[in-house]
Amino acid sequence: MKAQWIAGQWHKPARAKIPVVNPATEEILDYIPRGTAADADLAVRAARQAFETWRWIPALEKAQMLHRLAGDLRARQKKLATLMTQEGGKPFCENRDEVEWVAACFQYYAEVGRNSRGNSIPPTFHHQVNFTIKEPYGVVVGIIPWNYPLLLMVWKVAPALMAGNTVILKPSNETPLSLLSIADLFGKHLPAGVVNIVTGRGAEIGEALIQHPGTDLIAITGSTETGKRVGQLCAAQVKKFHGELGGNDPFIVCEDADLDIASRAACWAAFLNTGQVCTSCKRLYVFESVADEFTKLAVKHAKSLKLGNGLKPDTDLGPMINLRQLEDVHHRVRQAVNDGARILCGGRRSPKFKKGFFYEPTVLTDVEHDMNLVQTETFGPVLPIMRVKDIDHAIWLANDSAYGLGANIYTNNMEWAMKAMERITAGTFWINDPLTDNDAGPFGGMRQTGHSRELGEEGLDEFRETKHVHLDYKAERKTYWYPYAKYNKLTS
Ligand code: NAD
Repeated sequence: MKAQWIAGQWHKPARAKIPVVNPATEEILDYIPRGTAADADLAVRAARQAFETWRWIPALEKAQMLHRLAGDLRARQKKLATLMTQEGGKPFCENRDEVEWVAACFQYYAEVGRNSRGNSIPPTFHHQVNFTIKEPYGVVVGIIPWNYPLLLMVWKVAPALMAGNTVILKPSNETPLSLLSIADLFGKHLPAGVVNIVTGRGAEIGEALIQHPGTDLIAITGSTETGKRVGQLCAAQVKKFHGELGGNDPFIVCEDADLDIASRAACWAAFLNTGQVCTSCKRLYVFESVADEFTKLAVKHAKSLKLGNGLKPDTDLGPMINLRQLEDVHHRVRQAVNDGARILCGGRRSPKFKKGFFYEPTVLTDVEHDMNLVQTETFGPVLPIMRVKDIDHAIWLANDSAYGLGANIYTNNMEWAMKAMERITAGTFWINDPLTDNDAGPFGGMRQTGHSRELGEEGLDEFRETKHVHLDYKAERKTYWYPYAKYNKLTS
């Protein structure tokens, strides 16, 4: 059984354990501790103590530590990607890429985090100086989902550390092993207590961390439902809440698009990580003039994809994360079919596998925009295709959503692309290249996806508070001080 990483050492709590299951084989890979409020308290004490020294370490020194950490992560890329494939199911190449993005993100924030600490502001009077300084919040809690267990960790940890905070991480119970496997690197490169890792149930140790008076900022990536609960707990304590929540991204294909490219792009955007990406293409709107041709190509491509264990080199799609998730997606597909949708391929658990949570890549047509499958987040390999009359119709439907994470369009018509970009409510808008992130480009959502941002300079500022400093280098008696009788005489 694994232990928790607190104050630079392994801590084994006495209580119950949680199994970590390989979704491709259903074998138990290991167990993690089901941490308690007492473990949360221990981690908070460690992080608080470390904060008192970490915040004052010069940014250049912090940056050097993160650069060295990134180097060691790269050296471990293959081993880590293998473990990530075993616990999360994603194909090996997707995990290999994730490890590289994690290392690059540490390096990005190592540099951006030593670039500025506030602004100089024009004063309102002579001999005065005004400026802002950015300060850390204190102890940051990072709550991580299972679909990108290291990437969504670094998007919080790297800016939080460079801002001067210390961190307690709570990984998902589905994929905690990869994070625990790099605890020794935090131990090697950072002072004890600067990064701590605890495990357990969200409602137990997660909420204990959120409600602990010694934590200052709660950053969570997860479903909107979980985010609402965490947000409420934060609001009750007026604690800073940073939420990267659910998505339901639209994908528009216009009639001028290269349909071969657009259909491949749509399949990749819908089926990457078996459709378990917050920015997956979850609703496809195609101009009716090209809908038949586009659908034919998308089905052909979907049928050609290879489902299997992510450790096999020819696997395109791995398993879904667990049976509950698979059954949820299948239920949504059946509901849509009952309401009139047609399955063109997939729509079932794959009969080819005796073990594992494999769901076939699914393309649906005759889908209505008001179906549950389209209206709420369907987190699996499903591409529901809907027809639209023109760009205005597509924009209207794309916007008819409670979420606002990302949106995609395929077109070379500048007017359509720019109109859609300006009118669609989404934190990221991709034109002719879905799902591409950039460390320097802010990532996050509008509406019920959150309103927070990770990456870019915005992602650093989310972990810093602003202090305004007013300085008068000539201490003098002000005319507007008491007594007011004198002041009134001066100003009347
Ligand atoms: P989830 O909400 O079930 O869990 C996320 C994390 O929150 C886990 O670590 C879980 O243990 C913890 N948690 C659950 N209840 C909690 C509570 N009451 N208090 C504290 N912590 C709690 O989400 P998931 O199934 O792991 O991930 C999938 C979801 O994440 C999808 O909705 C997806 O869209 C979303 N997501 C969003 C982004 C984004 O950037 N917006 C990125 C990836 C995933």
